[in-house]
Formats: sequence, C-alpha cells, structure tokens
Amino acid sequence: MPVYNSKCEPFTFDSLVDQFRSVIEEFPDKRTGNNTSYTIEDAALGAFSIFFTQSPSFLAFQGTMQKAKGKSNAQTLFTMNQIPSDNHIRDLMDMVYSYHVFPMFSYIFDGLNTLGHLEEFRSINNNLLIALDGTQYFSSQNICCENCTQKKHRNGTVTYSHTVITPVIVAPGNDKVIALQPEFIKPQDGHKKQDCENAAAKRWFVEYGPQYKDLGVTILGDDLYCHQPICESILTEGFNFILVCKPDSHKTLYEWTAEFENMGEIQILIIKRWTGKCYEIDTYRFVNQVPLRDSEDALYVNWCELITTLEDGTVVYKNVFVTNHEIKKENVKEIVEAGRARWKVENENNNVLKTKGYHLEHNFGHGKKNLASLLSTLNILAFLFHTVLGMMDEKYQLIRDNLPARKTFFDDIRALTRYICFDSWDEMLTFMIRGLEIELIDTS
Ligand SMILES: [Zn+2]
Repeated sequence: MPVYNSKCEPFTFDSLVDQFRSVIEEFPDKRTGNNTSYTIEDAALGAFSIFFTQSPSFLAFQGTMQKAKGKSNAQTLFTMNQIPSDNHIRDLMDMVYSYHVFPMFSYIFDGLNTLGHLEEFRSINNNLLIALDGTQYFSSQNICCENCTQKKHRNGTVTYSHTVITPVIVAPGNDKVIALQPEFIKPQDGHKKQDCENAAAKRWFVEYGPQYKDLGVTILGDDLYCHQPICESILTEGFNFILVCKPDSHKTLYEWTAEFENMGEIQILIIKRWTGKCYEIDTYRFVNQVPLRDSEDALYVNWCELITTLEDGTVVYKNVFVTNHEIKKENVKEIVEAGRARWKVENENNNVLKTKGYHLEHNFGHGKKNLASLLSTLNILAFLFHTVLGMMDEKYQLIRDNLPARKTFFDDIRALTRYICFDSWDEMLTFMIRGLEIELIDTS
C-alpha cells in the first residue's frame, strides 16, 4: 500500500496524477495476442480524465487536437501516451477489480492526516465522523453483468441493479466531505443469499477498522443501520456510532423510554435560538442505557431526541439518535449536531456524484464483470481529487471562489481543454486567473 510519507508537501494535481499512475501500474494486465496497442495506464487515465473534467467527450476532443496540433491535454495534463477509444477502455477496465484503485484512497487519506487537514473535521469526543449510505447507481431490465443484484418480479421480469455504499468523512459546519474506499453490494463468493447493504457495511467495518479506528471514529448511519448486529460490528472493530433510531423499527427501546419518561428519568435541555428572523426553541431529551432490542443479550445504547419548535409551538425539526457515547447535558447538542451531519453523505456526496456532472448513474458502459463498479470508483476518486485540490491548491481555491457555480467551473474546463493545449494543470489555472482578472495574494 502506498503511504504518504514525503516532505509534508501539499498534494498538487500533478502529484496526485503521478501517484495514481503508480497505483495503475499495479493493475493486472491480462491482454493477450494483438490487443496490446493501448496500455492499461492509458485506459485507466482516459476513463478518469472523463470523470475529472466532467466531459463525456473529453477524449474525442483530445483525439482531434492531437491530430491537428501533434499534442493534447490527454498527454500534457493526464500523462497519457495514446488516447484509447471508449471500446478499448471498456475492454481493459472490465478486467480490473475496483479494489485495485483503493490504495489511492488510502494514500490521500494518509496525506490529509499527515498534513493536518483532518483536524478541521474533528467532532464529538475529538472523533472523525464517517457517514455511510447506500446509493443505487445502475438499474435496468435487460442490461446485466455477473455482479448485478437481481430482483425477480411476479410477472417474470427481472430488474438488474448496482448499489454502492459510499463512506465519507463529514463534519458539522464543514461543506467538504472526504470520500473513503466504497463498498459494493454484489453477489459474494460462497454465499447463496443475495448481498445487502447491512452485510456490505459490516464488510467495510471489518476491512477498514484496523486502518481508521486509532484515529477515533464515530460511524453515522440512518435507521437501516440501527440494529444490534450492525452496532456490535461497529463496536467490535473499534468504532463508535451515532445512528438515527425511529420509533416504528425500535418498539422495545421506545417502550423503555416511555417508562423512563413516567419515572421522570429523561433529562431535558432547552435552548432558545435567534435565527436572524425569529426565535426557535430546541428541546433536547435524553437518557443513557436503554436496550436496543427485546432480548436477554440486548445491547444498551444511549438515546437522544431533538425537537425544534417556533414560539407558537409549530414543530420545524425532529430527529432521534442512539449512540454509544455517554450523553450529558454538556454534550447532547454536539452529539445531535454530529448525528445530523449524516445528511451530508446524501447531499454533499451522493447527490453531487449523481446530479452535479459526475454522472454516477450513467457512466459509459456496463461490462461483463467489473466495469460498472470500477468506473463508479474512478468517479468517486475524481470527486475526491477535486475536494483535495479545493483544500490545498491556492489557485484552484481562488478560481472556485470567484466562479459562481460548480457548473460554470466545469463548463470552463470543458471549453478550455477542448480548444487549448496547456503544458500543465498549473498553466491552465494561471490562464483562468488572468482571464478572470483576479489575483493570488502572496502570503510568503
Ligand atoms: Zn451489472
């Protein structure tokens, strides 16, 4: 596994691409016969470049540029030797398991940790919050591969689909999310039963507990994760949890909280807040040590609820969580804020991947084996590259701050890389800064 250990230099686009190239060099390359005109590096970097530029036609444009000018951004920016066709990319990438890309996630995480960037994500009890959520990125009645999840309907038709769990580091009040290694829901070797989100989440805890637990980690998840086997798996791997806990799916637990209520054992904290327009009243209620289910060996968890009302009593927000962190008056607000940061995995990550240009749902092929999951992994990695550059590349930050929307930024990248061959990523950013007539303040 490549470990970030160099001279504590921030990541740059070039250093990330170089590292990615060395990860690709470890990919299995199983071509035989004459099919060796394109290298696996070119195929992987080619697919990645499409996601990174959010331009489905990026390679076609670079092919045209190559013919006209004898060079292209595929070479100068993404270090490709030749520009492979979509078909070559599909063929070569279908053989590669997504876990071959995972060392890149470890490398970036390690670098962010070494460079101190994870500290701005610290939350309750100085923990990092990792939010997990499953998202379906492919569904079809007729296209399928050996890793599709199959759902047979009564009328005899079958729906094929792919779902991935996308763990991300989130923090309240921080609009950035850091993508970690995804876990795919797919038929597992040696298991007749279909895979499911809970089983996939457990695999992730087992796989990455050793890597992340010593940093202090709290897992965030929705009600689907709030069950004893998952909670036990989280604790066994050395993590903590804050999970949404709905009454409908936790009858026993809510009978106990009702009983505690009758006995006056529920603690209450009320905070009145001025929103800038009106007062809102946050009422926190909590109790520690409640059984999660109705069994002798039930796990005891700590329960808290937040109800936000207007002064006339109208409820504007309500949510409930259980956690293994001890809840006190001093930390209940922080625990609820951490629990609420979970929505960022949907809004700031999965929604961005699906609707903000990354095309998680319609990447350019399905393949027979690994292509669909490999391409979505590259897509998540492209998003992570942008997140990291947004944290470390001053020119990148300046441009993003001065362009009104993400869409404008990518529209510009698409147009610029179509018409101009830049010698480097840095040269392109410098060109954009000059064009926007903005200045980088020299702080040295
Ligand atoms: Zn499939």
